[in-house]
Formats: sequence, C-alpha cells, structure tokens
Amino acid sequence: MPIQRGNDDVSQAIDAARPAIERICAEVWELAELSLHEVHSSAVHIRELEAAGFTVTGVGAAGVPTAFVAEWRQGDGPKIGFLPEYDALPGLGNAAVPRQEARADGQTSGHGCGHNLLGAGLTGAAIAVKHAMQAANVPGTLRVYGCAAEEVEGAKVYMAREGLFNDLDACFHWHPAPIAAVINARMAANNSIKIEFHGRTAHAGIEPWQGRSALDAMEVAAHAINLMREHLEPTARTHYIYEAGGVAPNIVPDYARMWLKVRDADRARVNATTEWVRQIADGAALATQTRASVNVYYGLHDLLPNTPLAERMQAILERVGPPAWSEAEQAFARACQQEMGVAEKGLATNVIPLQKEPTIGGSSDVGDVSWCTPTMGVIMPTLPLGVSLHTWPVTACGGTSIGLKGALAAATVLAMTALDVLTDADLRRAARADFDRRTEGFTYVSPLPPEQTRPLGLPEWMNADGSAEAVEALGRSR
Ligand SMILES: [Zn+2]
Repeated sequence: MPIQRGNDDVSQAIDAARPAIERICAEVWELAELSLHEVHSSAVHIRELEAAGFTVTGVGAAGVPTAFVAEWRQGDGPKIGFLPEYDALPGLGNAAVPRQEARADGQTSGHGCGHNLLGAGLTGAAIAVKHAMQAANVPGTLRVYGCAAEEVEGAKVYMAREGLFNDLDACFHWHPAPIAAVINARMAANNSIKIEFHGRTAHAGIEPWQGRSALDAMEVAAHAINLMREHLEPTARTHYIYEAGGVAPNIVPDYARMWLKVRDADRARVNATTEWVRQIADGAALATQTRASVNVYYGLHDLLPNTPLAERMQAILERVGPPAWSEAEQAFARACQQEMGVAEKGLATNVIPLQKEPTIGGSSDVGDVSWCTPTMGVIMPTLPLGVSLHTWPVTACGGTSIGLKGALAAATVLAMTALDVLTDADLRRAARADFDRRTEGFTYVSPLPPEQTRPLGLPEWMNADGSAEAVEALGRSR
C-alpha cells in the first residue's frame, strides 16, 4: 500500500515547487522558441532543476543539442522518469488576450500546443516529488528528460534508441487540453518522409521539350498518394505539403520536394504504407523521366497504455480534479470561444471517466518511451472547451493564470502518482507485469535510420558547432 500521506504533504511539496513552475510557464511562453532551436528554453529548465538540487548529466542528450537529462537520487530505490517538452509552433504567436492579436514584441511563434505549461508541470512535478521524498525519507531516483523538438523530430526517439528509459520503473507525461482525463489511449505511430525529385531545367516557352519537370513528378506522386488512401485502413493518415516546386513558371523546375507524414495504428502498418510511398515515388519518377529520392528520416511508435498506472492516476485525478476557475478566467475562455465560433461553454470543470484505450489519430514521441518502460500521462484543461490544440487561444490562455493553474493541477496529479509508484511495491509489480504482457515477444527497434545521428532539421550553426558545450554556453548567456 502507498505510504500514508495527508493531502498536506503533497500540497506542501507542490507549494515548494510552485515558484519554479510559475517561472517556467512564464519564461518559456515568452521565449516561444521553435523545435530544435530551444536553446534558452531548455536552459530555463536546467536552471530550475539545478537550483532544486538535480544534477544535469547530459546536455545535448542522444545527439539532440537542446535535449538534456537531469537526475536526483536518494539512496537505492525505484527510478521514475518525467518528460518535459518546451518547443513552440510557427505562426501561433499571440498576446495573452482573448482574441487573435500579435504580440507587442513581434514574436510570431507561440505555444499553441502549450508546451511551456507541459514542461513546467513535469519539471515542477519532479521538483515537488523530490521535496516529498526528502520530507518522508523515501528512497529512489528521479530523472528528468529534457524532451526537445516534440513538434518535429522529438528527442525521445533519439533517447530511446540509446536505451535511456530502459532502467525506469515508470515514466510520466501530461499534455495541455480542453478537458481533464487520464491518457489511457493508443496514439498513432508515424514516419516523417522527405521525397525529392530531380529533373532538368529548360526555357518553358522556347524549348520545354529539353526539360524534365520535377514538379510534374511531385504532382503525379501526390495524386497517387491520394488514390492510395482509399485502400488504406481507416486508422491510416497521410498528409503532406510541397516544400519546393520550382522558382518561376517560365523555368521548367529541376527540383521539387514533398514533406509527407504517414500515420497508422502501429509500426508495421506505417512501414507497409511507407514502402508503398517509395514505389509511388519511383513510379512518378519513371513516368516523368526524373529521379526520385525518398528519405524516411524520422518516425515514432504508437503509445502503449498501462492499466495499473492508468487506474491509479484516474483515482488521483478524481481527487485532485481540474482547477477551480475564477469568473474572470471563465469569461476569458468564453471570449476565445466566441472568437473561434464554438459554443461558449468556458473551461472544463469535471473529470472524464477512464477511457478504454481508444485509438487516436495524433502521435507523440512519448510512444517510444512507452515501449521501453511503463508509461502513463494525464491531460488537464488549459484551454477552452471545443477549441483545438495548435490554435491561437492555446497560446493566449497559456500566457495567463488559466495555463498556470492547469500546469499546477497536472503537476499535483503527476507528483502524487509518482509518489505512489515510489512507495507502493504492489503497484510497481502490477505496472511491470502489465508492461511485460503487452510487450511479450517485442524487441524495440528504433524508427530512426542508423545514419541519422542528429535531427535533420537542426539549424545551420548547430550542425557547424552544435556541441553540447556550445549550446549550453548560449543558453546560459541570456
Ligand atoms: Zn503538444
């Protein structure tokens, strides 16, 4: 059974972590750094963890310059992981007001997925658990993984390839949302693919017959991918953009590039569809007398639930509940809803019953962690009901007390569940048995190609001198 804890002990621990949670929420919201560029945002987390007594063991962990690992240990005991993220999204910068309005400082990126809150809740939970462990003399290890670049080439997959999660007893995550629920769901596996076509340039008016259009090839490929959809199972998703398709209509384009994502319920289906995409690219090149190259540079696993952890977290979530909202916060949310044209229902005030592992079309690199160790997470309201992630109201609410309250409530649920895992051997055994049953006969194979030692989208300077030292120095320079 878990050690007897009054609510006082946990709320004292959360109180101790609260200033750090507040600072991370506010500073990372302000920074709004894009994926793989989160030099200062990761430094904010590192600063708070070091101040709380954690040791940073790896800046630039697993080949991702803005990732890190930090650890705190007291005696020999269970090992618990926390997965803060901190990357923002392009074009979703917004002032902290209930309408679409640019930030006064001109910052155009923003936390439209609420990762400023996500990171604060997880780093904050780890700091809170450390306080509670010290107060009650509970042995164990807390490890915080600075999960850079979740929106593009999430660092967790790089970390999983190096086995960084394998010795944990459990690992925790959360995500901002319109509702309060335990994430007892399967999320999709996916592959990120760049398809390049190489043709031959020519004057499009005088002698187009001399040219071979890479854009033609890309259009044939896109058409074939759209026809392929009919024959994929309903769990599949494919979506793409044209990244390059020529520079002027009077020049036959000799270069075109498509950025494509393939998602499905598991790795096997994703890999099968990816093979089909390779054939489509080759076919499109053949049809247009061009050349295709297909680069599957990143991928991730589906999310594996864990029943004992989900049930325990649900019980805790029902005790903690979503935040108590003020009338001003509800009014802010309703104003956002009015702007977005959705029902003016304000912010969630109830907890969703435990879900029976539905399959969700979205993906997360938490998936790869979940195949390495028992993993569970929670969603907490930080945005208005009926509003989708990756929209401006998420950024706006995330810069107000709405987002902060959601992060604090999430940190409370995560800290309480982590403390249960640390002190309840039966829960640990049950979580491990559930994990073993679900992964029987499974060997973790990284979706990353072996030659992909660092993310494809690293900024130029990081490729030139992206050493951990360089990134750390820049982070501290602020
Ligand atoms: Zn997100």
